Amino acid sequence: MTEVNPYKMAIKQIDVVAPYLDVDEGILEKLRYPRRELTVHCPVKMDDGSLKVFKGYRVTHNDTRGPAKGGLRYHPSVDLDEVKALAMWMTWKAAVVNIPYGGAKGGVKCNPPEMSQAELEKVTRRFTWEIAPLIGPESDILAPDVYTNPQVMAWIMDTYSMLKGYSVPGVVTGKPLELGGSVGRFEATGKGVLIAVQKVAEHLKLSIKGARVVVQGCGNVGGTSARYFSRAGARVIAISDSKGGLYNSQGLDIERTLDCKSRYKCLMTEKVEAEVISNKDLLELECDILVPAALGNQITAENAPRLKCRLVAEGANGPTEPEADEILVDKGIFVLPDILANAGGVTVSYFEWVQNLQELLWTEEDVSDRLHKIMTTAVADVMKISRERKVPMRTAAYILGVGRVAKATQLRGLYP
Ligand code: NAD
Repeated sequence: MTEVNPYKMAIKQIDVVAPYLDVDEGILEKLRYPRRELTVHCPVKMDDGSLKVFKGYRVTHNDTRGPAKGGLRYHPSVDLDEVKALAMWMTWKAAVVNIPYGGAKGGVKCNPPEMSQAELEKVTRRFTWEIAPLIGPESDILAPDVYTNPQVMAWIMDTYSMLKGYSVPGVVTGKPLELGGSVGRFEATGKGVLIAVQKVAEHLKLSIKGARVVVQGCGNVGGTSARYFSRAGARVIAISDSKGGLYNSQGLDIERTLDCKSRYKCLMTEKVEAEVISNKDLLELECDILVPAALGNQITAENAPRLKCRLVAEGANGPTEPEADEILVDKGIFVLPDILANAGGVTVSYFEWVQNLQELLWTEEDVSDRLHKIMTTAVADVMKISRERKVPMRTAAYILGVGRVAKATQLRGLYP
């Protein structure tokens, strides 16, 4: 079965909400395209002496409401259409949580698990140099995404700062704390997923305590979500990485599972009480809350009819294909869409950037309280639209996000 093209999927999502928005069709047409897309080729001397060229992209979808903001992904499947879709989703996400950012995204086609640290550093520095004319604290700010992390952000900050001749911490967020990173940024996305679920759980009469949770992916978003759900008293019964997952119907020992993953770089049944499960079967487990937190296009028209959860909280970007979305609605499964559920990451990235620009350091309590306030307000806003317009949560989130960007576009007018 062929995967849905993510950019076409992103365009279709605008088409779905167009009838609900009181804006000129011309403005929506503008929003269907990125402002700019840059493709670069990064030659790198590998450890064995050979030369390899890596293709990379940086796409600014929109900067109408503020500087463009978005992660950088390293993965073999990265391509321009995926980056364009991810950049567009960043625009809507920042608007849904009402922070003054536009959307951007970057990607380099490479496979970090098969590369040395030295090779990753060289790719990162060359890529940063190539995209340097576009990025900066006032124009386009990067952050971690799949297979990039605080160390990669540190290399980007260093390369950009060397080009400028002075330190520019605000060009990236998700940096190490020692370089101006914010407390609470690393766990922000996963923590935000829990906050969003807690807010809708009241409405669904779903108790988090004892709820069965299934998480696909155990990196920054999946691992942290699992940890926060487990601390909130839920039973995380399955979790996976790219090679497959672990399952225990009584609940996994999450701290031990994640500790083992970070020590041995894989999930192991010898270290925790669990059986092995494939990523495919994991998605179809009977549970209360399913958190896809790995890659896009995981819930498809093919597997959606077999999902047995009450709630899907999209930690990943674009995990549900549009046809699958309709099936989930028909089955009565409540979906917390990506542009709302995983917005905790961009929210605390915004806090980090604000601290960098003002040369301030906030406390963990400051960050946590503000994150909680922004996430719960956004969930309440989207639920209100969903209730009043009688539309699913995804459509409601798009009405809010696209609507805010469209209004801002109308106010600014066209240049020249
Ligand atoms: P990460 O690199 O930290 O983790 C990715 C995880 O996915 C790893 O556990 C990896 O083993 C697993 N994985 C890779 N391929 C897989 C496959 N085919 N099947 C199952 N698992 C697979 O990345 P992350 O930052 O946690 O990002 C995960 C998702 O969350 C992405 O869709 C990303 O765009 C989205 N997201 C991330 C952030 C953030 O702050 N990092 C914010 C919002 C959204």
